[in-house]
Amino acid sequence: MDPSVNACQNFYQYACGTWRKDNPIPPDRSRWGRFAELQERNLAIERQILERAEVSSATRTPAEQQIGDFYGSCMDEQAIEAKGIQPIAPLLSGIQQMSSKQDLTREIARLHQESVGALFNFGVRPDAKNTKDQIAAVDQGGLGLPDRDYYLKDDPRSAMLRLQYAEHVKIMLDLLRKAQGLGPDPDSAAHVDAIMRIETRLADAAMDRTARRNPDNTYHKMTVDQLVALDTNFGWKDYLGAIGIPPIKTLNVAAPDFVKALQPLIDMTSLDDWKSYLTWHVLRSAADNLTRAFQDEDFRFNGQILRGTKEMEARWKRCVEATDRALGDALGQKFVEVAFGGSSKTKALELVGQIEKEMSKDIQAAQWMSPATKDQALTKLQEVSNKIGYPERWKDYSSAKIVRGDYFGDALRARQFEIRRNLAKLGKPVDKSEWSMTPPTVNAYYSPPMNNINFPAGILQPPFYNPNATDAVNLGAIGVVIGHELTHGFDDQGRRYDGEGNLRDWWTTADTQAFQTRADCIANEYGNFSPAPGVNLNGKLTLGENAADNGGIHLAYMALMDSLAGKVLPAKDGFTPQQQFYLGYAQVWCENVTEESARLNALTDTHSPGEFRVNGVLQNLPEFRQAFSCKLGDRMVATEPCRVW
Ligand SMILES: [Zn+2]
Repeated sequence: MDPSVNACQNFYQYACGTWRKDNPIPPDRSRWGRFAELQERNLAIERQILERAEVSSATRTPAEQQIGDFYGSCMDEQAIEAKGIQPIAPLLSGIQQMSSKQDLTREIARLHQESVGALFNFGVRPDAKNTKDQIAAVDQGGLGLPDRDYYLKDDPRSAMLRLQYAEHVKIMLDLLRKAQGLGPDPDSAAHVDAIMRIETRLADAAMDRTARRNPDNTYHKMTVDQLVALDTNFGWKDYLGAIGIPPIKTLNVAAPDFVKALQPLIDMTSLDDWKSYLTWHVLRSAADNLTRAFQDEDFRFNGQILRGTKEMEARWKRCVEATDRALGDALGQKFVEVAFGGSSKTKALELVGQIEKEMSKDIQAAQWMSPATKDQALTKLQEVSNKIGYPERWKDYSSAKIVRGDYFGDALRARQFEIRRNLAKLGKPVDKSEWSMTPPTVNAYYSPPMNNINFPAGILQPPFYNPNATDAVNLGAIGVVIGHELTHGFDDQGRRYDGEGNLRDWWTTADTQAFQTRADCIANEYGNFSPAPGVNLNGKLTLGENAADNGGIHLAYMALMDSLAGKVLPAKDGFTPQQQFYLGYAQVWCENVTEESARLNALTDTHSPGEFRVNGVLQNLPEFRQAFSCKLGDRMVATEPCRVW
């Protein structure tokens, strides 16, 4: 804490000031906060697990062999250097062998099977209006920069970043020539231009992130023939035949305008230009698993320039993270054995039950909602399922062969395992037991099609849940996180789904309007916050997260009031339980962020930065004002407070 700051002027700085001063961003991070501290602790635990599993022995289980050898392959930089670009040679020669634009279809299908993202995205997803059936989905994709805005905005900073990106593409292509034993490419500027031209057209045709928050905008179920009619230049039927799914009649085309734009793009782009574009995307997706020269250049652009990170992470950290991404359940199972005691799960379930009870009361008390919509909301709430710690069934990775000393191959086979697993979901109901975060992850989520809240073991630790802290502090920390995830079921996105996870409008028109008015207040509030000079948050992009923060804290506060039951507990360290609650909340969000990363996040992240998650929420709360005796006119007291839930 920094007690020299007035709590009523800037509570974030009051609660976090000294932490922020004492915890500068480490050189290998673009953002450093309480989440990241805990991540580092989890990484160290995972490292121990992996270093033990790395040692070959007769007692290793098959899962230990996989994670140990994967990690060992990743750490074996000598073997990676020795292989050079040989692992991507077959992909590159396939691209070069294309003899007409008709070959584009076959080539894209092959690249997608090798997990290279090019031109568009394809996968099996829940049918948003019928979660009993998962369907194939075509979606926009194929960009090398993190958002379409990077290609389209014409301010000087964006123009400069495009130049730096083009330079990065050129260096990567040059590195490839060098690795192939070829001299400088006289046409390299033309290749880079072609790549930029193609990606800019794709960006221009892509739907922006804010529009994509409305699931109706990304739901366009159609027949395969209708897809073909959108863009007759790409051999969609051949693609669907080659990608590895049984024949289908219908699918979801999430972004039809994007698909339509492929037709003229394919027309106007020469075969040679397509070869340049695909070659770049092979390099881009492979860079992290290739030799040091490619890793360094990849980091120079994506780490240093885009995010302001000074140094690449230590090899062991990158390898732990890679193992978590590739074989997350196998590593997570060991992590849970070591780091997740049985009592944490019981305690977490107890807290979840408590917060759910409060939400039911909160819905019943909402004065702006009609009884009919309340009934529907309560039914949905009852159907929310709670998942704590780790999955009931662990994934069996045995079909992904992990061979010590073949890092590129190991990483590829693990990704292909996930691609096959995804495609095999076609025609099956949504599996609500599946997790989309691994157990060591320091995060939590709500899934609209599954209607469940998920808290990985990684987050059920201090500062989120601390067995030695007071109930008030824990309710402010993990209690608000639980309330936040639950509120997601009823935010601008979640409210459009019903209890079974289907996209179905269960709101009366008047209630939708009342919701919208309340949500607009939050969107305006956060749209005025500025995380970096000349940049404001996108109030609509961050609406769901901000609504969840604002709703979550109400629920956790109600739980605190219930537990106090009118009793006045003595202050601890000079703070009343109410004050402890708000400090527990704020101190989860203490952080330092590079300016580059703040700018990137403002464009792409649906979450507001820590400062606004704290001050943006608390200035809306009369209970906070009371707890710290703040007055109207103080910065932490909004003149027109917002509230959705
Ligand atoms: Zn959230």
